[in-house]
Amino acid sequence: KKRIVSGVQPTGSIHLGNYLGAIKNWVSLQDKYETLFFIVDLHAITLPYDVQQLSKATRDTAALYLACGVDTSKASVFVQSHVRAHVELMWLLSSATPIGWLNRMIQFKEKSRKASDLVPVGEDQKQHLELTRELAERVNHLYGGRKWKKLGGRGGSIFKVPEPLIPPAGARVMSLTDGLSKMSKSAPSDQSRINLLDSKDAIANKIKRCKTDSFPGLEFDNADRPECNNLLSVYQIITNKTKEEVAHECQDMNWGTFKTVLTDALIDHLHPIQTRYEEIMSDTGYLDQVLAEGASKAADIADVTLSNVYQAMGFLKR
Ligand code: ATP
Ligand code: MG
Repeated sequence: KKRIVSGVQPTGSIHLGNYLGAIKNWVSLQDKYETLFFIVDLHAITLPYDVQQLSKATRDTAALYLACGVDTSKASVFVQSHVRAHVELMWLLSSATPIGWLNRMIQFKEKSRKASDLVPVGEDQKQHLELTRELAERVNHLYGGRKWKKLGGRGGSIFKVPEPLIPPAGARVMSLTDGLSKMSKSAPSDQSRINLLDSKDAIANKIKRCKTDSFPGLEFDNADRPECNNLLSVYQIITNKTKEEVAHECQDMNWGTFKTVLTDALIDHLHPIQTRYEEIMSDTGYLDQVLAEGASKAADIADVTLSNVYQAMGFLKR
């Protein structure tokens, strides 16, 4: 089985973009692949953050993975900082990373800031995965192969060069207040996103106030109507309808009518997730156990990789 790794940072409330762009897809991957899903807390501290909130956001994120359908009989769920190998490997890799490579990263520039076979990511992470691929190739080239063998290693590649797995539909959910920028946890206005834990009232309110346009009817793929395309796409994914069905159903609707339909669909879709979340959170021992098992599984895998890297980079064996 190919191995899949992916995660979300505990930088705020998990929103529809994280769910439709990432978590929902994980649920369909866990049957086919060996899967590890983690809460990326070590990355959540690269911008100013609230130390009082980090652990709560980490637990909430983990509980939401499970509430969204991540099944621990198939997948491992762990917290990044619980696997020490991540931090250690980061030092080793950063020494092999040219600064120019980092400066090409849009988010690194914005936030002066990610081995497995396949890494399911939203569109915005494509560049980061590309960097990871180049870095894996570079380290394999610099330290792998014959040089590694001479040091007593197995030779060949140290890292697998990961591939992106970008889901076809719903890969990018846009902000409710601006159809040209993506929905984000860290966007200052909460009105710009639907959080998975938003109440019915909050959802209704946000959809009521979201940005629209004054064209007649509703349509996909009109470049002058990014908000319209975004909201129709969201509606399509959460109702499991085809694009054609939605285009036909909504073509003659006005915004008022569509907003009611969309609000109801969102509330219906999120309700079971919210119920499961409450159940999971009311049983704290359960979540801790899931995370402990996940960390131990992930550490077993990571420790093998890490000791290969130490060996190939010429360190004295401990
Ligand atoms: P932050 O603003 O803190 O960066 P974020 O909302 O961008 O938060 P991340 O933790 O950076 O979320 O990303 C987690 C996963 O969610 C990634 O796979 C990312 O591609 C995906 N993702 C984030 N935002 C969206 C979006 N608007 N549409 C689709 N996928 C998204
Ligand atoms: Mg992000």
